[in-house]
Amino acid sequence: MQDYDVIVLGSGNAGLCAALSAREQGARVALLERAPQRFRGGNSAHTGGAFRVAYDGVDDLRQLMPDLLDSEVENSDFGRYSSDDFYGELAALSQYRADPEVLDTVVGESLPTLRWMTGKGVRFMPIYGRQAFKVEGKYRFWGGLTIEVSGGGLGLVEALLGRAERDGVELHYDCRAQALTRDGDGWRIRCADGREFRAAGVVLATGGFHANLAWRAQYLGPGWDLAKVRGTRYNTGDGIQMALDVGAVPYGNWSGCHAVFYDVNAPELGDLDRLNQQKNYFHLGLVVNADGKRFVDEGLDFRNYTYSGMGAKVLQQPSGVAWQLFDQHSHDLLPDEYRVRQATRIQADSLEELAGKLEGINANALLETLREYNAAVRREVPFNPAVRDGRSTTGLAIPKSNWANPLEQPPFVAYAVTCGITFTFGGLKVNSGAEVLDEADQPLPGLYAAGELVGNLYYVKYAGGAGLTSGSVLGRIAGAAAAARRSA
Ligand SMILES: Cc1cc2nc3c(=O)[nH]c(=O)nc-3n(C[C@H](O)[C@H](O)[C@H](O)COP(=O)(O)OP(=O)(O)OC[C@H]3O[C@@H](n4cnc5c(N)ncnc54)[C@H](O)[C@@H]3O)c2cc1C
Repeated sequence: MQDYDVIVLGSGNAGLCAALSAREQGARVALLERAPQRFRGGNSAHTGGAFRVAYDGVDDLRQLMPDLLDSEVENSDFGRYSSDDFYGELAALSQYRADPEVLDTVVGESLPTLRWMTGKGVRFMPIYGRQAFKVEGKYRFWGGLTIEVSGGGLGLVEALLGRAERDGVELHYDCRAQALTRDGDGWRIRCADGREFRAAGVVLATGGFHANLAWRAQYLGPGWDLAKVRGTRYNTGDGIQMALDVGAVPYGNWSGCHAVFYDVNAPELGDLDRLNQQKNYFHLGLVVNADGKRFVDEGLDFRNYTYSGMGAKVLQQPSGVAWQLFDQHSHDLLPDEYRVRQATRIQADSLEELAGKLEGINANALLETLREYNAAVRREVPFNPAVRDGRSTTGLAIPKSNWANPLEQPPFVAYAVTCGITFTFGGLKVNSGAEVLDEADQPLPGLYAAGELVGNLYYVKYAGGAGLTSGSVLGRIAGAAAAARRSA
């Protein structure tokens, strides 16, 4: 039996923020990680490192990016992303089911928490590559996302883990927590290999259940067991199950998840040597299924607000596949994820040639779809990728509401995609103090949760960058609260 003040389960972003926060309060902290050391960092290591933060202008951003150059400020329109915007967008995307207090805490604490993270060695920078377009000589950011971590998810995890090691957080790898039991005022944890731990406060940060095939089929529904996994193979719902076993209430949308368009030939499980297999800039092109038909309004909104539902849409198509189509003009605007070596890219000099090259598609129907679409574009409306430009189609059964450009400039390029699941929405119910709640909304004393396994934030759609921010905010709160229990 190993005794600590605080035990954190999971070495992703949420767990690391919790561990650092508890350690800052002087607690003796153990961090238990199921994966071997080389696969530490969970889904967080697989991320692009984009964080959603409320800010009032460039001066707020300078707090997070002190080395921002004057020339960058001059050449960029960072705009502002107010707390009201952040709160309102997430509330609306959840169809007003998100817990107002927890969401308010995430939004209100976003800037101070990210500032705290810079103090722990995390380096933020503007997301020029993925979230800004140059319009009239200036980079204009769009979709409420302005900053990312230098080095992406790996950079984030390396910075936080390095700091945790230096600060004296004790890391235990290959340590799959499997049983949580009450032990006086605190908790006892047993791992799969028999190691046992005891502490006054426990923070669960073991992610959702996207890598649990049986739970996926059971909770998300038929077909979801066939989706590819974008991130870690270790998030199988252990933390959720352990909490339910001691009286936590299941909460949120257990049949909902974040899943995106993903390269049809990507590995079945996330691979840190093959990142960027997602294909999320469909809003600049067209998407068709094997019947040669469109099935979504690609331009309904910025992709940041629609991409998380695209995996579910493609899973419903014949054979679970689709193709994203671009001409040269739109292709030039695409970011790195379309340029990775392994992308399943098909190129042709004419639409007829392209239709013939897409294996398994109804080529005649596709050409008809493209003819109709090209004729329906409102060319008189100027194209502007940095705003919702209203350049739409007219008369189509499924419209394209913004950024509708005809496909007419060769070469034409298609990307073959399927469904890649990112993380699941359902999980535990927490309050704004990150305490895990039971069926009567009472906290389970000394038990906290942060990150993907929190069930009361995302329900229907998800806004890019919210996952890391909410994990950091609630993780930091959970760690400090758990540490406070040792003297309680
Ligand atoms: C490819 C990809 C890109 C993404 N990009 C972004 C982005 O740019 N911005 C954003 O905000 N979000 C992004 N996300 C979502 C993001 O990953 C999550 O919101 C966030 O990283 C979750 O952090 P977490 O700490 O909750 O979970 P994780 O980082 O997954 O950490 C959970 C940890 O718990 C461990 N664990 C599991 N079970 C046990 C157990 N029984 N005992 C001990 N340890 C256990 C796991 O091994 C893992 O290390 C992305 C996700 C993916 C997959």
